Amino acid sequence: MIKVVKFGGSSLASAEQFKKVGAIIREDADRRFVVPSAPGKRHSRDTKVTDMLYECYALAAEGKEYTGKLAKIKDRYDSIIKGLDLTISLDNEFAVISKNFKKKAGTDYAASRGEYLNGIIMAAYLGFEFIDAAEVIFFDEHGNFLSDKTNEVLSARLENCEHAVIPGFYGAKESGAVHTFSRGGSDITGSIVSRAVHATIYENWTDVSGFLVSDPRIIENPAVIHTITYRELRELSYMGAGVLHEDAIFPVRKEGIPINIRNTNAPQDPGTMIVESTCHQPEYTITGIAGLRGFVAVNIDKDMMNSEVGYCRRVLQAFEDYDISIEHMPSGIDTMTVFVQQKDFEGKEQQVLSAIHKYADPDQIEIESDLALVAVVGRGMKSTRGTAGRIFSALAHAQINVKMIDQGSSELNIIIGVSNDDFERAIRSIYDIFVETRL
Ligand code: ASP
Repeated sequence: MIKVVKFGGSSLASAEQFKKVGAIIREDADRRFVVPSAPGKRHSRDTKVTDMLYECYALAAEGKEYTGKLAKIKDRYDSIIKGLDLTISLDNEFAVISKNFKKKAGTDYAASRGEYLNGIIMAAYLGFEFIDAAEVIFFDEHGNFLSDKTNEVLSARLENCEHAVIPGFYGAKESGAVHTFSRGGSDITGSIVSRAVHATIYENWTDVSGFLVSDPRIIENPAVIHTITYRELRELSYMGAGVLHEDAIFPVRKEGIPINIRNTNAPQDPGTMIVESTCHQPEYTITGIAGLRGFVAVNIDKDMMNSEVGYCRRVLQAFEDYDISIEHMPSGIDTMTVFVQQKDFEGKEQQVLSAIHKYADPDQIEIESDLALVAVVGRGMKSTRGTAGRIFSALAHAQINVKMIDQGSSELNIIIGVSNDDFERAIRSIYDIFVETRL
């Protein structure tokens, strides 16, 4: 068995946390490949090292004094090294980083140093080989991840390697310049490494005991999901459910490698298994509920729209021209509605409207803002009658006006549009009916 283990920032925020991580890795000889994040927050008012690096580099890029901030970052690492009784020194590394900051090596380079340095400490602490991610993870010059090249180089590099630490979050462009994934991207690195070594399992260690049925900021103490499929997870993470980066499933999905979300602070908990397919039925018909605020509905009316070939395409062209991604598109006979994210749309709304007029000559366009989308996701819905009925009666009981309904043909999710103000109540009422009362 080969296990790849990725540890998030809060699991590596201090020497105490490093010790827990060390114990977890040493406990199981199959845990051979380790992907660390940068040190995260030690307490709620603390700052993540990645954020400190962004701030520090911003000063350097403006030609301002940055060495004081850089010294504070070094202190974070030094206290971990000291707490672990290691004899290594990061003096030379910081001298190089400081020089590169002065030379304006770029924001990505700066942010990546958080993982890079933590990887050096982790490798020294475990006695594992350190492999710089810039040598094995590749992007093209536009920053697109090169999955085949990476897999080829990384598999060859790890083939004869017994144990290694590969820092998360970054790689390099073909020119050699360091490039990062988006925030939280160490999850993706863990998945890439798992694919390259054909891991039996990808363990993703964080600070919660798995994926929760709903957001703990909305539902007090939500139930943990024991097993979830990649597709369900994708739907939930796209709609804002945290824990794992939404792109992290792609590399492992290619190989059918399960992901196990685990809690560094409660290693005895089994956490959540993320799998391709399973015969385990979810405990509550639905697997999870997630949602996001901040959408706009653009309602377009045109008599005889139904018989006009190419009408939708012409409307959508207007959004494409302004680089706005479309979330949902429910339609009627002479109407169609386009849901987009408010933050993408706000600055460009008048241009988009005139482009719709130019391309599609509608009778009327109306904009409704401050909407929220709630996604109820579950593989169990396909084989259960009345799920939609229960959702909508729960919403009706809570006196919530439903503005949009979208059920994909996969019957894996039902998306409901409500006003931003009803968002939390909508999630609570759906959670109550399925989980609390188990209807
Ligand atoms: N350290 C990076 C961040 O804070 C990447 C990661 O932790 O996954 O976003």
